[in-house]
Amino acid sequence: MSTVIPIRAETAGCTDVVPLVERGQREVFCGLTGIIWLHRKIQDAFFLVVGSRTCAHLIQSAAGVMIFAEPRFGTAIIDERDLAGLADVHEELDRVVGQLLARRPDIRLLFLVGSCPSEVIKLDLSRAAERQNRIHHPAVRVLNYSGSGIETTFTQGEDACLAAMVPTLPASAPDASANSAPALMVVGTLADVVEDQMRSLLERMGVQVSFFPPRHSQAMPAVGANTRFLLAQPFLADTARALQSRGAQHLAAPFPLGVEGTTAWLQAAATEFGVAPEVFEQATAAPRQRAEKALAMQREMLQDQRIFFFPDSQLEIPLARFVHRELGMQLVEVGTPYLHRQHMAAELALLPAGTRISEGQDVERQLDRCVADAPDLVVCGLGLANPLEAQGITTKWAIELVFTPIQGYEQAADLAGLFSRPLKRRLKLAA
Ligand code: SF4
Repeated sequence: MSTVIPIRAETAGCTDVVPLVERGQREVFCGLTGIIWLHRKIQDAFFLVVGSRTCAHLIQSAAGVMIFAEPRFGTAIIDERDLAGLADVHEELDRVVGQLLARRPDIRLLFLVGSCPSEVIKLDLSRAAERQNRIHHPAVRVLNYSGSGIETTFTQGEDACLAAMVPTLPASAPDASANSAPALMVVGTLADVVEDQMRSLLERMGVQVSFFPPRHSQAMPAVGANTRFLLAQPFLADTARALQSRGAQHLAAPFPLGVEGTTAWLQAAATEFGVAPEVFEQATAAPRQRAEKALAMQREMLQDQRIFFFPDSQLEIPLARFVHRELGMQLVEVGTPYLHRQHMAAELALLPAGTRISEGQDVERQLDRCVADAPDLVVCGLGLANPLEAQGITTKWAIELVFTPIQGYEQAADLAGLFSRPLKRRLKLAA
């Protein structure tokens, strides 16, 4: 039997929530971080950060585990130059790109990724990308986006990257109007293992699906008026808008986290594609029951534990829905960097009414609230974890929730484990 907390039909959860909006100092990674998971996904792409030594240090240390692998990212360091040297910077960039592509003929898609230093902001990277495209066409396509900490936080780098790719997607057949046979696209970077599971579940229902981003740049999915897309990640507002501007339609759904989220997410596709209820049941019953059983064990540990989310990845609201409804945790505060009401509508409706939701950050005030509330577990960025741990508060690094495969049935218990492990560790230390 499902352990999901039922929502009473007469409540709309947090649908009309008025969030606590804060616009102060924030503690969050910049959008360059997305390169760490994007470079693993698109196997013939290369991410060239046009930035400073700080940027190089960030992606090298965040991707430390990849240091011995043939890297698919690098940094063209262009700080320490004055404005008079800008013409040289373009030449320098052309030289670096030329050298890179000569050394690495396997690269088919090159991203020039912008960053914060003023020298980079003044560089017109889209012009640089156009120029590179002319030089290296047709072997390599060159695109640009910004991962700058001024314009993007953490997961927004992926949004900017995917949005930059949308105009290059092939158009679906010209006769594929909104009324012709629809085609499903899942949007957002998923670990390959998760992608394979989702594909297999959907295909068992008779629904063919494409994934964006694809594993190879040569396999970009087609888009057009017959495209229906499901978001696999909650931080893709610009990408969704870009797809809609090409005629695609968004299928509203909760995100595929936990048993409930995964079922509702698959159901949105099944409804759109006219899958019979018994076919849906047949395709999902076994993995759903396995996941429910595995979650029941985690629930014993997590039931009634009080959790506080700092705003980091935009995954916070779907995660809060999952830990509350499937694991019985109590939500103290759910912070999100941005609240996209439309993409979050199905999630907000499932949160208990009265949940304290905050948008943006004023880090000192939020830390004061957190310490005063004394939650059992805090999900936060690396920079806040140590000071909180020093005060006796158990923490979970938000970044792990982005790097780990957490979507879908088979990953539901692993996702719960990410919350229970720090609590178990704390108990052991206290014993
Ligand atoms: Fe730092 Fe900006 Fe570079 Fe990110 S893009 S590492 S915030 S300098």
